[in-house]
Amino acid sequence: MSRVAVIGAGYVGLTTAACLADLGNDVVVVDIDGHKIDLLQHHEVPFYEPGLSELVERNARASRLRFTTSYMDAIPGAEYAIIAVSTPEGEGGEADLSHVEAAATSIADCMDGPLVIVNKSTVPPLTGDMVSQVVSGRNGRHSAQVVSNPEFLREGSAIRDFMHPDRVVIGSHDREAAKKVAELYEPLGAPVLITPNIYTAEMVKYASNAFLAARISFINEIARICERVDADAKLVAEGMGMDQRIGPSFLDAGIGYGGSCFPKDVKALAALAERFDYHPELLNAVMAINRDQRMLVIDKLRECLDTLQGRVVGLLGLAFKPNTDDLREAPSLDIAKVLLAAGALVRAYDPAAMHRARLQLPELEYSSDAYALAGGADALVVVTEWNEFRHLDLARLKASMRKPVIIDGRNIYDPSTMRNLGFTYRGIGRD
Ligand code: NAD
Repeated sequence: MSRVAVIGAGYVGLTTAACLADLGNDVVVVDIDGHKIDLLQHHEVPFYEPGLSELVERNARASRLRFTTSYMDAIPGAEYAIIAVSTPEGEGGEADLSHVEAAATSIADCMDGPLVIVNKSTVPPLTGDMVSQVVSGRNGRHSAQVVSNPEFLREGSAIRDFMHPDRVVIGSHDREAAKKVAELYEPLGAPVLITPNIYTAEMVKYASNAFLAARISFINEIARICERVDADAKLVAEGMGMDQRIGPSFLDAGIGYGGSCFPKDVKALAALAERFDYHPELLNAVMAINRDQRMLVIDKLRECLDTLQGRVVGLLGLAFKPNTDDLREAPSLDIAKVLLAAGALVRAYDPAAMHRARLQLPELEYSSDAYALAGGADALVVVTEWNEFRHLDLARLKASMRKPVIIDGRNIYDPSTMRNLGFTYRGIGRD
């Protein structure tokens, strides 16, 4: 059993804290957001993540997990301080490290003994050195070893991903500190890669996200070509994915990637490269393709409806992906704004993200379910591939629409089934 302080109660911090507590550690979470902490002290999770409420409640009741806004309450006595604060897009696309720096400062001010500081936030190489300098500059009495331990969990399956990782990556200039962090993960039995220099571990995370984003942009470019030669991009991806050298994941043509990680991480890696005098052609292409891909559904809507002015368009899904209420960099936001600007009346339904969308897009009409969304609509656009959209009664949907147009931005329906039902159907890379 180890004493662990987790800094930041977001998707990564809270999942990490709840899972480490469940593995038997004594965990305290500190966040500067008093409202979040207040909710958590009442065992309420401030965002939607399957299974997390139960895990938090169970471990909080067992006194293995507690929440505070005070570093002084969290850091003294801790063996590990895990930084999991946000690293949003900063000026010029580089990662904004101000929250990491603030967390390091607060940790340094409260340290009362040796401490291993684990950086779990996604940060560019050299950030670990910055954290070390901040800590040694403010606290000359106690030493801290800094370790990079990037997180690879996905929202929507965060607990499973944390508990069953493909690999755990740990890097530090201090081998003993790296080994001490590896001990935290021992119960998971996962492969551990310890890199003898911290920059390598920091780089693994950026390279992994950039590679996954590149696969998505790659298949979207292939889909554009498929549309021109009458090939089916979904089957092309299936055929590619059967090759063991390629594999099937992250080859879904659609409206592109969004979310709190890929967009900012690819941009930050490109900005980092430029800072070190390297022009990242491939990363720039990945971003450009992704930007254009969002607008493809608008082109398809125009083609099917002639004009968008006065048309009623329903968005099936708003979250950047299923099983989350996260709207950060969600394609739905751009699509809705362009539709509104073109004079369309935009409605939306999402099983989890509407409470957040109402704050960001008050101009939208929000529907209670997919059938209410379809009533009198001129077109529906599948924006997020929630499972419940795969199982809709499509005949019922069609019967209530003014025009039976479906733009399937996630290729969840079968084109011939849709046509047999009488829909005007457009997928991505397959019609
Ligand atoms: P988040 O925005 O959900 O949570 C961050 C939390 O940190 C917030 O609650 C915020 O109040 C808190 N915070 C900010 N400054 C603080 C400070 N000085 N002291 C204490 N708390 C502070 O962010 P997230 O999605 O959990 O991401 C955290 C990091 O993990 C980012 O670097 C992100 O890129 C990375 N990451 C995210 C995911 C993901 O799927 N969300 C996956 C892997 C890695």
